[in-house]
Amino acid sequence: MKPTRTTEVPCTEEKRRLISSFFGEETFTPAVMKEKLPRDIFENFMEIINQGKKLDLATANSIAHAMKEWALEKGATHYSHWFQPMTSLTAEKHDAFIEPLENGEVIERFSGKQLAQGEPDASSFPSGGIRSTFEARGYTVWDPTSPAFIMRRGKGITLCIPSVFLSYTGEALDNKTPLLRSISAIDKSALRMLKLLGNRKAKRVVATLGPEQEYFLINREYYNKRQDLVLTGRTLIGSPPSKGQQLEDHYFGTIKERILTFMHEVEEELFALGIPAKTRHNEVAPSQFELAPIFEEANIAVDHNQLLMQTLKKIAARNGLVALLHEKPFAGINGSGKHVNWSLSDDTGNNLLNPGNTPHDNIQFLMFLVATIRAVYLYGDLLRVSVASSANDHRLGANEAPPAIISVFIGEQLTKILESIESGAITDASNAAIIELGISQLPLISKDNTDRNRTSPFAFTGNKFEFRAVGSRQSISLPTTVLNTIVAESLDYLADKLEKKDGTNIKQNVIDIIQEEMKAIKPILFNGDNYSKKWETEAGKRGLPNKKNLPASMPDLVSQKNINLFQKYNVLSEVEVRSRYHIRIERYCKKLDIEAMTLYKLVKGHVIPASVLYQKELAQSIQNVQAALGGDCDLEAQKGLLKKISQWITSLIKSIEKVNEMREQALTIEDEQKQAEYFCNEIKPEMEKSREICDKLEELVCDELWSLPKFWEMLFLS
Ligand code: ADP
Ligand code: MG
Repeated sequence: MKPTRTTEVPCTEEKRRLISSFFGEETFTPAVMKEKLPRDIFENFMEIINQGKKLDLATANSIAHAMKEWALEKGATHYSHWFQPMTSLTAEKHDAFIEPLENGEVIERFSGKQLAQGEPDASSFPSGGIRSTFEARGYTVWDPTSPAFIMRRGKGITLCIPSVFLSYTGEALDNKTPLLRSISAIDKSALRMLKLLGNRKAKRVVATLGPEQEYFLINREYYNKRQDLVLTGRTLIGSPPSKGQQLEDHYFGTIKERILTFMHEVEEELFALGIPAKTRHNEVAPSQFELAPIFEEANIAVDHNQLLMQTLKKIAARNGLVALLHEKPFAGINGSGKHVNWSLSDDTGNNLLNPGNTPHDNIQFLMFLVATIRAVYLYGDLLRVSVASSANDHRLGANEAPPAIISVFIGEQLTKILESIESGAITDASNAAIIELGISQLPLISKDNTDRNRTSPFAFTGNKFEFRAVGSRQSISLPTTVLNTIVAESLDYLADKLEKKDGTNIKQNVIDIIQEEMKAIKPILFNGDNYSKKWETEAGKRGLPNKKNLPASMPDLVSQKNINLFQKYNVLSEVEVRSRYHIRIERYCKKLDIEAMTLYKLVKGHVIPASVLYQKELAQSIQNVQAALGGDCDLEAQKGLLKKISQWITSLIKSIEKVNEMREQALTIEDEQKQAEYFCNEIKPEMEKSREICDKLEELVCDELWSLPKFWEMLFLS
């Protein structure tokens, strides 16, 4: 018998609603708008989001009214423009819906003007020199391409309106504006290419994103006792537990009841917000987990990833847990990343990186594939800089995550095809030749064949690329902006070539162009083990950059080549690029300074006192035993231990004082690039030295004197 679908599914403790029955109910989707708006206004709105038509006041007023009515029904009292300043976080400033009446009462009102534009008086957001404080006004502008939603936090219920954030003079002060510009750029360039390849159906091309979010969960009571976790997001000291991830028993293991309840509550909120949270599982490290949504259009996926991170934090707090999103919260076990799956899709839902069923479809596929490879070859430095952060520096190149060297994995079969085209083994594009090349067989490339290499920073996985070097905590806005822009540039370059070719045989022209291009770009292809030392040497010979940390990588953001690229595609002006460089370098220095200060206080306030107490106890004990037993005892080993402890305490005091002096020194360095390099190359190693001693002391000092929760306690949740 066919099972009947009901909206209520019986469950042991309570009646559960089907996900489909409440998916998106907290979101002002186009479907809701269609229902609530007059038809002409709705149609106008769809033209605004799909064709970039300008918003007129009448439409704005009508939408604002419908949005307010909807939000009030949901219990909202306030509205807020919700935006993404250059901090990698989101920002909001709430206003009540009220407007005063003459009689002293108020009514709920929300105008089109309030919907379209806000002025948060945002003088304290980083602008990287774009604004000086006397002209500090920045303003937010509604981004209608991402739906408004209800944000519930405690008793607060707020209508959030996704927005961009601009300076008074029109420069982008956020991460969203450049992303939207890059989305237009790739749309234009990809459509141009599709037309040249004879595809007349597509009207619009969008980038699609599926970010796989990794995170740790630990008990809140432990977290609250760790100054380093609270202030820096990661443990600055701590000896790895005897059992880490060596047994590989956590990955895909049974999810504990408490965690599953947490995940369930997270997903309930995400579903209500229209976020298609699809996959959940235990990750490799103990207490590490992953949540992967189904892919969406880039702009929405970026917003949804921010909401997902916030929801993880909020629900964790409700359950006595803390969600750690930092890229490397614990040394000695894996850190967390965010694999960003990226592809291009036309408006009818065809994935342009999906090999098709006909040789012609596959020629189109090969063109987009080669365009992406070329883009990474020419602008790998930009991709690298887009994922650089003080936190991700601990991960990239640590043999758990992709290295800092950007290369592309496409698997053996595609490599073979591109190599045979390049070598001229097959020059004509007759159907027979195409069959021989294997191009007609492309749909048979199963994911299993292409996704075997987990060490590659940028891997083709059957019908999309997976950018694996992205950090768990960062906004995926910049990496996506870079990807869209660099691929747009490559598509245009290849389109220019295609336009110049004689002859009407498109297939032949594409094969010829691939042959011409492959020679230059093939050094970026690497199918081997990215963690091996051999690859580092080999990549060096191939001339691929290996920028190991943020200060080494940041100058690439402002190279002339890259400024030209951003300008050409109207993604960022020179001023906007430079402001981002300043902000990121400055934030890097501040973060390392906070880490150094926190370490100093932790060592002085905790490690040294605990160790000294233990030293005292041991010394007294040795004395007492000696007095009691006289010559009739062997205390050499105990004395050795005491000596070790006393030496380590001394070395630790010296090292931590040096860290403190060095950070004071760092703050006197005026050149920001040099200051960042000093933090990275001088202070960080000294902090590591202090840490090593702390971790040795932790192993010796009596557990009762060591008040900081240890890794084993934090990582094995019960
Ligand atoms: P795998 O686990 O083999 O890498 P999945 O198909 O399970 O592949 O997808 C992993 C992630 O990639 C998911 O978040 C998914 O939504 C995303 N993804 C799948 N197809 C696309 C696409 N065309 N564009 C962007 N992301 C995609
Ligand atoms: Mg993955």
